Amino acid sequence: MKDIDRRQLTQGIGALSLALIAGSRRPRAAARARVVIVGGGPGGATVAVTLKRAAPDIDVTLIEPQRRYTTCFYSNHYIGGYRTFNDITHNYLGLTALGIDVIHERATALDLANRVVRIEHVEPVAYDRLVVAPGIAFKYGAIEGLSEEASYFMPHAWSGGRQSRLLRERLDDMKDGGLVVISAPRNPYRCPPGPYERACVIADYLKREKPKSKLVILDPKMSFSKQAVFEEAFQKYYKGIIELRLTNDLDDMGVVRVDPKTGEVVTKSGEVFKSAVANIIPDQTAGTIALEAGLAEGGWCPVEVETFRSAKAENVYVLGDAAIAQDMPKSAYSASNQALVVAGNILADLTGTERPSPIYRNTCWSMLAPDDSVKIGANYTPGDVKGKHVLVAKDSFISQPGESAELRKETFEESIAWYETLTGSMFAKSDSASGRIPGSGRG
Ligand SMILES: Cc1cc2nc3c(=O)[nH]c(=O)nc-3n(C[C@H](O)[C@H](O)[C@H](O)COP(=O)(O)OP(=O)(O)OC[C@H]3O[C@@H](n4cnc5c(N)ncnc54)[C@H](O)[C@@H]3O)c2cc1C
Repeated sequence: MKDIDRRQLTQGIGALSLALIAGSRRPRAAARARVVIVGGGPGGATVAVTLKRAAPDIDVTLIEPQRRYTTCFYSNHYIGGYRTFNDITHNYLGLTALGIDVIHERATALDLANRVVRIEHVEPVAYDRLVVAPGIAFKYGAIEGLSEEASYFMPHAWSGGRQSRLLRERLDDMKDGGLVVISAPRNPYRCPPGPYERACVIADYLKREKPKSKLVILDPKMSFSKQAVFEEAFQKYYKGIIELRLTNDLDDMGVVRVDPKTGEVVTKSGEVFKSAVANIIPDQTAGTIALEAGLAEGGWCPVEVETFRSAKAENVYVLGDAAIAQDMPKSAYSASNQALVVAGNILADLTGTERPSPIYRNTCWSMLAPDDSVKIGANYTPGDVKGKHVLVAKDSFISQPGESAELRKETFEESIAWYETLTGSMFAKSDSASGRIPGSGRG
């Protein structure tokens, strides 16, 4: 990896936590302060680890139902057959070793008036500061015939874990000559380039294993992230396999109906696609618990952009995919970066340390083919646009068509290094024997 990229990664992921930890005196809360975090993804887990490392006197409780977290990020590498399920599955033992109280149950309600979180099978826990990082929920009802049950037959594979596995199994079971349909969601959604990276990795699998098969992308949008380099890859690697059907002003390529029994996928324009495998990715909202607690507006949670403090409730922070971060895409990189600012602000609230600068960063890498990856990214700072105080992108960068194979390979290697760095830090792997689940194969 080039020095500049290494520097960017360190800035993006570790700068604040390093600053917090490197301080010779550890901040102390006046009384034993209690921070409760709902959701153990890159948003919630990074807040927990950063906070506990910086101020061991604070009681940090993480509520996360899953004992094993299979990352959505790089699940496309698993679906394409380049990584095993175990490669992208991690545990929370490092957090427990740090002294974080990890409760593997679901939070059922946020009682914001009484500063209490209610949890399935466990006594409620009280908080001084609450962090809400539950990721996303799916709007199944927007497509006739689609439901949580139907997504077993037509997996979205947009929530990691079992869903990623289901899609992989459907592809394995498909006969050569079948049609794979990917239905992309409307903005905003988790991982804007994700559906197009998925098309690439599935098409690469079809090319290798089922060469008579085809793939169509039905998209209710007119354009998408990193479009130029994706379209170049569709031509260069997957000509005759991938067909991209973008919508028009009439939203014609939006999927309106599916039949999980027959595999039929019907667009608004009335076209019927008979799929062998349907990867229907529904439109999305903030995670249900955030909606039910009244933390959202229009499906997503508004926050103060300096801090990611909820705009709807006192003593509550919301971050990651559930939050409205304007230009900042919903990604693991964004979530973990926001987490550093959230942890710094909670420390300031509880111990009187200085508040961190609200400078955020994101980079999203996508794999087009083996050893050929591209990226997009920017820094984000608070600013005023059309009378609104929002996060504004600057110093943005994006991969270009026609780049050399050497540069694309370097970008691929950089992306792998980022994955290891993020999962190492969010699961505090240096504090456990191993945060990754032992064993190999498609677990
Ligand atoms: C195919 C795909 C590829 C992707 N690739 C990339 C990539 O290359 N780079 C990148 O940066 N991002 C990528 N992403 C996006 C990334 O996965 C998400 O943006 C990221 O996981 C968001 O983090 P989060 O912490 O907000 O939410 P999540 O990771 O979803 O974590 C939320 C956690 O909250 C828990 N939870 C929910 N409700 C409750 C409750 N009631 N009580 C307790 N816990 C609860 C859930 O179990 C979950 O573990 C990709 C996503 C997909 C789908």
